[in-house]
Amino acid sequence: MTVGNLRHTLAELEEMATIRPLKVSGGRKKRMGCGFHGSDNQRSLELDLETGRYHCYTCDAWGYLSDQPGNRWGPPGRGSDRASPKFVPGAGFRSSQDARTAPQKDAEALQALSPRNMEAARRHLEDTEALAYLKARRIPLEMAREYGLGYFPPGRWPGRHEAAKVGRIAFPLEMPGGELVGVYSRAIDPAYPGTKAPKAVRHDVWGRRGLFHGAALAGPSLYLTEGPFDALAMLGSGFPAAALVGTKGLPWERLGNVRELYLCLDLDATGEGQKAAHELARQAVMRGLRCHVMDAGAYGGYPEPSDQWEAEGHVTLS
Ligand SMILES: [Zn+2]
Repeated sequence: MTVGNLRHTLAELEEMATIRPLKVSGGRKKRMGCGFHGSDNQRSLELDLETGRYHCYTCDAWGYLSDQPGNRWGPPGRGSDRASPKFVPGAGFRSSQDARTAPQKDAEALQALSPRNMEAARRHLEDTEALAYLKARRIPLEMAREYGLGYFPPGRWPGRHEAAKVGRIAFPLEMPGGELVGVYSRAIDPAYPGTKAPKAVRHDVWGRRGLFHGAALAGPSLYLTEGPFDALAMLGSGFPAAALVGTKGLPWERLGNVRELYLCLDLDATGEGQKAAHELARQAVMRGLRCHVMDAGAYGGYPEPSDQWEAEGHVTLS
């Protein structure tokens, strides 16, 4: 399913206005009656003529004009011309070098989050129980290496004490430039898929929540999943994928040249999960991206990409 275009031109926005537009701020902005909620007594919708962004102070409707040349999300022009880097599988993973160049504000988190711990975890990837678990999830060792995975044996995980009692497969969480901001880990399930590790210890994040395989944000297509195992399944099937780990928003300003966004979320998502997906799709479309949401029939009829990967060794989207 492709999400419809919700964007407006300047003419459309002014046509919708319930109170005649008025220039303010020395002509840099316009205020008008908001056509989204139908304000009849105040010009609550403010449009910034330089950026093309509009926002209503009453109903919170917002977006970017579709015909504003040169703005970040508008048609090509000054300011929106960007190189289109090619997708390179695994390119997001860097070793400790890049983590040292992370912004100063993350310095404290990164002190605890020493890349050395992650390096050590990578050396444990061939521990018997780690290999057995990866095998059960159909992840070849080379693939785990390519994307920077590691293994923390029991007692070694520097996150929650409770979570450290069990062995954990770790995934680096990075920004698009490759800087390490956190590590997500998943308790290994000794009899996967028969039994799963208890919920209380199953997931843990050390450092900040973020994206697994942020390199995929370079574009031009981005396949977004909920979990890192789903992203691995997509990557193994040739899709430039990243996983949102414990966070609902994308770092929009760092989206590179993404023009097509594919939301590859769990098909059995309900309530909060669906609401989050809907909001993500709306945000994407408002920024001029084409957004596609997977519907029934994707992943070969399985609820998640990783389920199809485990059963069939590849992921199909239709
Ligand atoms: Zn409004």
